[in-house]
Amino acid sequence: MPDLSQIVLRPHAQCRTLIVAIALILLVEGALALQISPVQRALAQYLTNEELSTYLQDYQRRCRDIAKLHVIGTSVQGRQLLALELAASPGSTNALPHFRYVGNLHGNEPTGRVLTLALAEYICEARGEDPQVAQILAGMHLWLMPSANPDGFDQRTRENINNVDLNRDFPDRFSKPPSLMPTGSEQAEVRALMDWSRRIGFTASAAMHEGALVANYPMDGTPDRSTQYAASPDDGTFRHLATKYAQAHTRMALPTNKEFPNGGITNGAAWYPIYGSMQDWVYLATGCFELTLEVSESKWPPVASLGALWKENKASLLGLPLLAVLGGVRGVVKASNPLRQGGIDTPLRANITVAGIETVVQSREGTGVFARPLAPGTYELQARAHGYTTATQQTTVPDDGTGVEVLFELKRVASSGRARRAGGEEAADGAAALDSVAAWGVNPGGALRLEPLRRNVLLVSSGIVLLLVVWFGGWRLAATRRGRSLQPRTVISIPLSRVAG
Ligand SMILES: [Zn+2]
Repeated sequence: MPDLSQIVLRPHAQCRTLIVAIALILLVEGALALQISPVQRALAQYLTNEELSTYLQDYQRRCRDIAKLHVIGTSVQGRQLLALELAASPGSTNALPHFRYVGNLHGNEPTGRVLTLALAEYICEARGEDPQVAQILAGMHLWLMPSANPDGFDQRTRENINNVDLNRDFPDRFSKPPSLMPTGSEQAEVRALMDWSRRIGFTASAAMHEGALVANYPMDGTPDRSTQYAASPDDGTFRHLATKYAQAHTRMALPTNKEFPNGGITNGAAWYPIYGSMQDWVYLATGCFELTLEVSESKWPPVASLGALWKENKASLLGLPLLAVLGGVRGVVKASNPLRQGGIDTPLRANITVAGIETVVQSREGTGVFARPLAPGTYELQARAHGYTTATQQTTVPDDGTGVEVLFELKRVASSGRARRAGGEEAADGAAALDSVAAWGVNPGGALRLEPLRRNVLLVSSGIVLLLVVWFGGWRLAATRRGRSLQPRTVISIPLSRVAG
């Protein structure tokens, strides 16, 4: 019968047990952390067009509560132009406004393909945790088109397969005759982008390019083709949106940005004038406020740098939709009806204008809801609808990015016909959705949840090295002691009765 009143540990064995335990903990922690997050997986490579299509279908399956995949057209070579719609109710025709990011309009600029996927993965992954993600999903439909030029990507050229630069192929106000209407001679990709723009009626958007580090805003062209500042009627608002994007970027607005040391923004024509650009067309033809984001100084950056590019742009990519769509003025236009019953209002499609700015934004058919980007300041807004009196309101857009809500109630002019009542329910739904207020800024809770891959590899390696040291070190110790007495020099004695007592 062994004497259980004493537990004897030799110093060498005790030390070895401790080190093995630490090594095992490191190994387990490292192995757990080595599981790559979906965001990291999206940043791990440039997918081929076929892989991208499969990836987007898989994303829709994984994140089906917030995602719907759309085919918005086909390229010249027949490849599908795919766009993800992310929202609390994707695919619904509710009253919420729309924002879009378009990547890879130039085939040899693929960063946008990757950043849109990383953004989609982050939104899916953080939808229960990050307040900015919650605001995006509750307050708008966010559309992500990774590639507007898959044929160009496939052959690694700026142009599409017909050797046409798609960002020079949109109808232009300086063309002869000047017209923003499609001519019918546009490339298939441009026709699809125009149809999509008109069908959805985006409030704001941004396209991602490479070759510089700058947030570029309209206008892109000048009447005499000279390189000079070409201000749009909404120049103040465009400068506001571009500035906020650059400032939320980790280095775009810094003086170290040598080509654009003054805040990392530029007017398109002041940099170099172009004609037939997407940003000028969507603004002038559809009232959508679009920026052109140059997100990488080098074109087709190496895969190893994609993680850093995501970190640089992450806060900006999350913040821009919130600022543009919810950070200006938004609201509902409806018919004033003192005899209404059951709280049913008549939403109106109306023209919304700001005094001193010629841009017209329309409230949506059936819901009466509108959203208009505006820089902070005090404005006089007007709502006009056929058969109704014009309503004017003064309102102040706060500078904290939270925006302001406005309700227009228009009185029917006595001689006009009976106003339509359709869409009242949707308008109420839209007004409720407008309760969510957007905040602009870097969200400290928005960082990637998993530690960087490098640290995890380090953890596993340290664990393995420790195990090896202990294993071989133990053999060496055992070898040097061969033939000697195994009697330990010190004995740890624990009286069990005292512990138990
Ligand atoms: Zn480009």
